[in-house]
Amino acid sequence: PHEKRAAAKGASSIDGIKDIIAVASGKGGVGKSTTAVNLAVALAKTCQLKVGLLDADVFGPSIPTMMKLHGKPEVSEDMKMIPIENHGVQCMSIGFLVDKDAPIVWRGPMVMSALQKLTRGVSWGKLDILVVDMPPGTGDAQLSISQGLQLSGALIVSTPQDVALIDARRGANMFRKVEVPILGLIENMSSFKCPHCGEQSHIFGSGGARRTADELDMEFLGEIPLEVDIRRTSDEGNPIVTKPPQNFVVKLKFTLEVDA
Ligand code: ADP
Repeated sequence: PHEKRAAAKGASSIDGIKDIIAVASGKGGVGKSTTAVNLAVALAKTCQLKVGLLDADVFGPSIPTMMKLHGKPEVSEDMKMIPIENHGVQCMSIGFLVDKDAPIVWRGPMVMSALQKLTRGVSWGKLDILVVDMPPGTGDAQLSISQGLQLSGALIVSTPQDVALIDARRGANMFRKVEVPILGLIENMSSFKCPHCGEQSHIFGSGGARRTADELDMEFLGEIPLEVDIRRTSDEGNPIVTKPPQNFVVKLKFTLEVDA
């Protein structure tokens, strides 16, 4: 227990939520949503915390599929949307509100207004942690979330590939600029073990994420393998942490500063 950091200028918390953590990446497709979903479910299931999951990736919402949720949220008496729950996690996503195949063709102000509704227009109840699946990149939406919400920290997800790491550095530097503590870097799709011969291949390269973490003075939190069960369970809406296969262990260790 430490004293909580002062809120960045202009940032404010959400009533009833103790900590908000952003899961971010520079590039899309590196496994940010997969990490956010599994982290949220693990925090609820293993750590017995009250957890929410906000899909802030408004142009490519994955949470409805990955958490096997659909349907429109109900509205509370005070006109706030009620999150939908699965795997012990309270979820909110723009995907609950728009047609599955409809393109989301919005200009900046519409995106900002949607994000405002998805964060503060929701009856989250009492939560220990809200995990925010950020949109990829470092544009307006990312900046307004990291400046507007009092984030306790950000986790950065990257593959070991240079093109992903370059953007991950940009993401990390954005959080630094707005004074959000970086909890660390997670390397996803680290290695692939051939199911036939057992040989390990480093399809996207090796060692790059650890080096990047060192260079940027961030914690390196761990490696997640490229694993068909991770993809399959995500597509089925039962994140792998709900029923990990035997011998499948991924440990991520990070520290959050919490109220004394
Ligand atoms: P992002 O949020 O960065 O765009 P996603 O989490 O949506 O990325 O992941 C992109 C795709 O890769 C998804 O189909 C997901 O199931 C798959 N995926 C992510 N991480 C892994 C992994 N470690 N092993 C296998 N497939 C993965």
